[in-house]
Amino acid sequence: MSFIPRLCPDPNCSYHTIRGGVFHRKGYFKIKRTHQVIRRFQCTHCKKTFSSRTFKSDFKHKKMDLNHTLQKLLIEGNSIRACSRILKMTYKNTYNKFLWLIEQARVQKYNLPLSAQTLYFDEMETIHHTKCKPLSIGLMVNESYQILGVQVSEMPAKGRLAAFSVLKYGPRKDDRESGLNELFQTVKNQLQDTPKEIKSDAKSSYRKFVEKYYPESNYETYNRANKEKHRDRLHEKMQKKKYDPLFALNQRCAKLRCDIRRLTRRSWCTTKKIENLQGHLDLYMVSQFI
Ligand SMILES: [Zn+2]
Repeated sequence: MSFIPRLCPDPNCSYHTIRGGVFHRKGYFKIKRTHQVIRRFQCTHCKKTFSSRTFKSDFKHKKMDLNHTLQKLLIEGNSIRACSRILKMTYKNTYNKFLWLIEQARVQKYNLPLSAQTLYFDEMETIHHTKCKPLSIGLMVNESYQILGVQVSEMPAKGRLAAFSVLKYGPRKDDRESGLNELFQTVKNQLQDTPKEIKSDAKSSYRKFVEKYYPESNYETYNRANKEKHRDRLHEKMQKKKYDPLFALNQRCAKLRCDIRRLTRRSWCTTKKIENLQGHLDLYMVSQFI
């Protein structure tokens, strides 16, 4: 479809908001990388020239053809640096494109058509550069293995590293509670229907979230002891879904660790900025629906 200008892109021009402006055709230009020929227009009021590219979200991108490939690579287990080597771009350019991609994803994730009959939720853990600074990722999945929401939050170190972590990095705040609240709220706002069933592991602090956000739904918890009881019998039949009642969730967690390089265990590639981890997860979530 050919582009017909309706408004002037210059915010100081009166035709920026009011329709009815006259725009003259003003030659063409060619995008070198895609060999696309694009018509340029000129506003008769402010004499500024523009084209259909001016209104695109990838306006001023010189390697706009690589945006989609970069997105694919990022959700297939490549680090940003690896992507820059594969695509023959500089690290800085790749990083800037990554920031652009996660910004797009951040906007898109609130408009996704989410639905769930059964809602699974849990938390997984990762690190912020060092094991002394662990992060918690709240995760919600539906029965079709679709990730409905992810929320990253800070948490203090546990176990043997706890004392050392405080000594080296100072006390860390525990945002898991507010993180889960935000996760429940955003998913609830977007879900078309109330889920019939909600399933999670038997962590006692989860119950209050379910009672607050989904009081009518049937809530089931599964602890490890329950799972062990059925292990012998069901394992032989290889019925994964019965063997592990939270399979949809655990499968997604394993997939995330495989597909997002910064979540892999025993790796050099770690998260350096929490907001970028959140963005990367948003990108993964949005990519499921494309
Ligand atoms: Zn104008």
